[in-house]
Amino acid sequence: MIKGTTKIIGIFGYPVEHTKSPAMHNAAFEHLGLDYCYVPFSVRPENLKSALDGIRALGIAGLNITVPHKEAVIPFLDEMSEEASFIGAVNTVKNENGILNGYNTDGIGFMRSLEEKGVQAKGKKVLILGAGGAARAVGYALCKEASECHIYNRTAEKGRALCGHLLKTGGNMRLSDNDLINDKGFLSGMDIIINTTSVGLSESDTPLLNASLLNTGQVVCDLVYKQTPLLKAAEKVGCVTMDGLGMLLWQGVAAFEIWTGTKAPVEVMRKSLGESC
Ligand code: NAP
Repeated sequence: MIKGTTKIIGIFGYPVEHTKSPAMHNAAFEHLGLDYCYVPFSVRPENLKSALDGIRALGIAGLNITVPHKEAVIPFLDEMSEEASFIGAVNTVKNENGILNGYNTDGIGFMRSLEEKGVQAKGKKVLILGAGGAARAVGYALCKEASECHIYNRTAEKGRALCGHLLKTGGNMRLSDNDLINDKGFLSGMDIIINTTSVGLSESDTPLLNASLLNTGQVVCDLVYKQTPLLKAAEKVGCVTMDGLGMLLWQGVAAFEIWTGTKAPVEVMRKSLGESC
């Protein structure tokens, strides 16, 4: 029920039609009887600044930020959490009396989904495929835990830049390349492999690495929200696999708690995303 007192949370993306976040957050608000409503806003890149001015003018309580605005939004915010500043991307905004505070809950979301799968990152050797916004968030969260953190990216320069940036956290960073990700010996040494690229969104995508080079028991994660060709192939050789739905859930849980100051109803949110996460 929308009332005169209802607080609005939005998501800015372009496109935004595919988002699962409204279902997840509205289910949580309804379950707890909170006077909030979550709505999608399709914001073209050229309208981002005026859309954020609108947030202040309309008193909209908070936002999720998704592709392609996670980095572009930064200059228009007033404050940033330490994590979001380091990562250089924002997925959550809280409006406190016209002051827009930016956060990044993607890294914590990934770590919680991994823990829930019974996988501890502490002391593990990790390979991250990709060096975009998601890789920066996941890399920031993981590199402080992992004993070695290897980065591979199609555009090597971006991979090198991310490695250099994450070194500042004290993480043991290594740059990987095409030869290494096709080398059975190297891949066998990795405890956890994470695809943070969009490769796999389409059923016909060829995975960035050949799963037949992997071994039973290795953990393979994909941030794409479904069973990708990489995950299917990894499962066939006995790897433990995890898609991106758990990360979507847990980044949403953290965002919900930032906006409302209330403990999120995790199981209600999980159910709204489907039983697989
Ligand atoms: P991004 O900043 O645009 O980065 C895209 C990354 O994918 C880059 O490293 C890019 O490499 C790589 N890439 C794209 N196409 C490729 C190809 N054909 N071959 C090899 N590499 C390719 O995007 P992002 O924000 O990091 O998001 C990446 C994925 O993560 C998306 O599918 C997104 O939906 C997903 N994601 C999921 C969650 C979740 O909650 N599960 C959260 C955030 C993101 P180059 O640098 O060489 O272009």
